[in-house]
Amino acid sequence: MEQQARYNSTWAKQIRTAAKSRTLSHAIILAGGGDTATAARFAAAAHLCRSEGERPCLQCAQCRKVMEDIHPDVVWVQDTERRDLSVKDIRQVRRDVYIRPNEGERKVCIFPDCKQLTPQDQNVLLKIVEEGPAYAAFIFCTPTAHMLLPTIRSRCVELHVTGEEQEVSSRAAALCRVLTEGDEAVLQHLVSLENSRMKREELLETVDGAWYLTAEALLMKSGKPSGAEVAALLSRSFSAPVLNALNGVFDRYRAECRYNVNVGAVLGAMIPDLRRGLRGKR
Ligand SMILES: [Zn+2]
Repeated sequence: MEQQARYNSTWAKQIRTAAKSRTLSHAIILAGGGDTATAARFAAAAHLCRSEGERPCLQCAQCRKVMEDIHPDVVWVQDTERRDLSVKDIRQVRRDVYIRPNEGERKVCIFPDCKQLTPQDQNVLLKIVEEGPAYAAFIFCTPTAHMLLPTIRSRCVELHVTGEEQEVSSRAAALCRVLTEGDEAVLQHLVSLENSRMKREELLETVDGAWYLTAEALLMKSGKPSGAEVAALLSRSFSAPVLNALNGVFDRYRAECRYNVNVGAVLGAMIPDLRRGLRGKR
């Protein structure tokens, strides 16, 4: 059931949509605090699935082998004993990539922990991401895409994998809807949250979710599809500078919520900042 819920996540929809139109990128970054390893298996299965219908079908032999980590054409590149991957490991990847896939149509290299990739490693990888054989695919898992060099990032499609706890809460969705109703509605909504004696964890979850939704809306502005309905609403309602400003406000208050115990004070401070954000000012 839990697994099922994850496959309804935004990232899963994005992978399915791309796989359906045969536009799933050969280089994907899965970024965020969620279960990126599961997302990586899902993306690898989308590359290797033989179903005529939805991909990954998670039923065919190819999908099942990927999900059980026994597919011969999926290579997990990590070092569980040392902090960083060695030059030897990366050279091995370079050799592996040029060995044709065994039973699938593609060879998929998964890097489950990009913290292990030094800039030198990334430079070597950049070459094979750019010039490797057509059947090669790469999946990079990382808490934040900033851990990867801009040169790598520019070759990849980035998908956001939020944690269970970061799954967008209904409070976050409600707050984002209110943003589209204007200044006065924002004021009333935040005052009502204050009066509801919201707990700090609930506020953090709300602000976190709102941050995520505004980030998704910004991505939609640049043509990346999103599964979140509220993100689509935000994207339709606001210009990129306004979304940017709002996203900046939520980002700031995510930090604020972590050390400020006074929920009322945080909400009070957020009112003028959000109103400024609505005018596109940070
Ligand atoms: Zn399948």
